Amino acid sequence: MRPPEHVEAAIRARTRPVCAYVYDTAVLNERAAALRAALPPRTTLLYAVKANGHPDVVRTLSSACDGLEVASGGELRLAVAAGARRIVFGGPGKTDAELAAAVAAGAQVNVESAHELRRLDRAARAAGVVTEAAVRVNRAGPALPGSHAMTGTPTPFGVDETTLARVLALRLDSVRVTGFHLHAVSNNLDAAAHARFIAEAVDWSVATARRHDVPLRLVNVGGGLGVDYLGAATIDLDALRSGLAGLAVPDGVDLIVEPGRILAADAGWYAAEVLDLKHTHGRWFAVLRGGTHHFRLPAAWGYSHPFTVLPVDAWPYPWQRPQVDDVAVDAVGELCTPRDVLARDRHVRRLRIGDILVFGRTGAYGWDISHHDFLRHPPPAFEVL
Ligand SMILES: *Cc1c(COP(=O)(O)O)cnc(C)c1O
Repeated sequence: MRPPEHVEAAIRARTRPVCAYVYDTAVLNERAAALRAALPPRTTLLYAVKANGHPDVVRTLSSACDGLEVASGGELRLAVAAGARRIVFGGPGKTDAELAAAVAAGAQVNVESAHELRRLDRAARAAGVVTEAAVRVNRAGPALPGSHAMTGTPTPFGVDETTLARVLALRLDSVRVTGFHLHAVSNNLDAAAHARFIAEAVDWSVATARRHDVPLRLVNVGGGLGVDYLGAATIDLDALRSGLAGLAVPDGVDLIVEPGRILAADAGWYAAEVLDLKHTHGRWFAVLRGGTHHFRLPAAWGYSHPFTVLPVDAWPYPWQRPQVDDVAVDAVGELCTPRDVLARDRHVRRLRIGDILVFGRTGAYGWDISHHDFLRHPPPAFEVL
């Protein structure tokens, strides 16, 4: 995926050796609008901050969506600073201080256990408020295709469906359980299956609320809408829209969707200059100013992230410029470990030292999930368009 002209221009304008993330807020706005158009009217669309916590990204998506989903005290502070109209706070290990901060910010908490529900009640009482919470449930059956299944399987997330009755039977003064949180999967590309999952989550919530006397006001179906890093595909939003066309959300129930990846992935480009080219034991390596300490996703998931070559004609040295033609190269980083690989065996028509590799679709789970301090190289530049 070649970057659009304005992104390419921003990359070319950087000082050398080039190493930068470029984020395009127009793409963030476009993705939020496209997703909203695929969801039933009145659905609450939140952005899951963990995908990309750059303050400009968070601020842009906070206004393009209805609010933000956060999963730590740090993300909560970002959301407050971004002026989010609505904040939902999730995550399996919340401290008392984080629960108190969530109550103070007026966030709605997704509770992960009976113990946490009691602690939230205590935090709300201390603040002199009554708060509404959803219980995150690890449901009995498998939910969806995709990676990282979080429900229907042993995980640290949520309350096992078989013990849900005990949590819902707790009668607490300062917290009312008014819904369920059912985030199930990461990176699902099957739109029809995702629509069925959402419809089924609503039905399950209505039935479960009735059975346990929960005054149902919110059903949070999480995120997990996927992009295919190897191809150009994204979960089919037209198919999602038609799959959800008949969805009947009861009056007074707020359907919440809180994706991260599908909103932010396409808005990011990671650019890294080729510092060296070498051939060892029959294999070509392009060594980059950058690597997995900036963009860990391919190493974490074990795939080769596609890139395009941005040719740079300037050559500042008085000797001949090393170059390869029509070969397969491994794009590797500057870290002293053989695991620092962004892509293997990618064909290049021509590649020279000083050219720039541009990795598209790096706006989600790129910089944010990477081990920045390993080897203490300087961070990339960040440019927001
Ligand atoms: C990570 C996460 C999301 C966002 O997931 P995406 O796959 O980026 O859409 C939403 N909700 C919860 C609870 C999460 O943990």
